[in-house]
Amino acid sequence: MSAERARIARNLARIRQDIADACARAGRRPEDVTIVAVTKSVGADRIKVLPELGLTELAESRVQQLCQRAEELTGHFQKVGAAVRWHMVGHLQRNKVKQVLEHAKVIHSVDSLRLAEEINVQGQKEGLVTDVLLQVNCSREEQKFGCAMGAAMHLAELMCTLRNIRLVGLMTMAAQGPDAEAARPAFVRLRELFEEMRHAAIGGEAMRHLSMGMSQDYSVAVEEGATLLRIGTALFQ
Ligand SMILES: *Cc1c(COP(=O)(O)O)cnc(C)c1O
Repeated sequence: MSAERARIARNLARIRQDIADACARAGRRPEDVTIVAVTKSVGADRIKVLPELGLTELAESRVQQLCQRAEELTGHFQKVGAAVRWHMVGHLQRNKVKQVLEHAKVIHSVDSLRLAEEINVQGQKEGLVTDVLLQVNCSREEQKFGCAMGAAMHLAELMCTLRNIRLVGLMTMAAQGPDAEAARPAFVRLRELFEEMRHAAIGGEAMRHLSMGMSQDYSVAVEEGATLLRIGTALFQ
């Protein structure tokens, strides 16, 4: 495990340097960018080392795996005093909301009013206020998930009327390809939408996150204003 740990530490050092460089180019502060470690491709032993390396925001893209991992690791993280928070970053069906709320503190993938309402209703029952991001389809191509750009403002406004969710930002998935630059237009569109919402005071002070950028394109995302980077492969490869 120490070899694995050293490898992750080395990858993380490179990612942090890339973030620092991108921040310097964009006139931003590295402390305003958080790495959310996407653990879907690795086992519990590698997840355990993450808090030791300073990574406490962990994510899964499937409900079942999120719940399994969170349950499996809660005892360990408590024992070592690590304050870990789980994020749900993948597509979420309404019938899985109740389950996800038991473990996830942040949901990045809210893309319809019906889903937001379900999170709100279940949250009300459990006395929870859950941080959520509105997922927007900013790629001009067919994307399976994310609300249309033209619908985002109105949807965000409606989400803000729900008491048991808190809209904290926007999320997008850029098209994945060998060229990181190909992702830039989608990131620019998400940031512009975000600025429009801020200007209209939608969400107020809580509205401060742009969840964009993955292993392929996180440097470009930081240049365009990302505050949450969802990174798996680049961390564990
Ligand atoms: C898997 C996944 C990521 C991380 O992807 P990598 O390319 O491995 O960094 C980010 N966001 C979502 C929604 C994912 O499913």
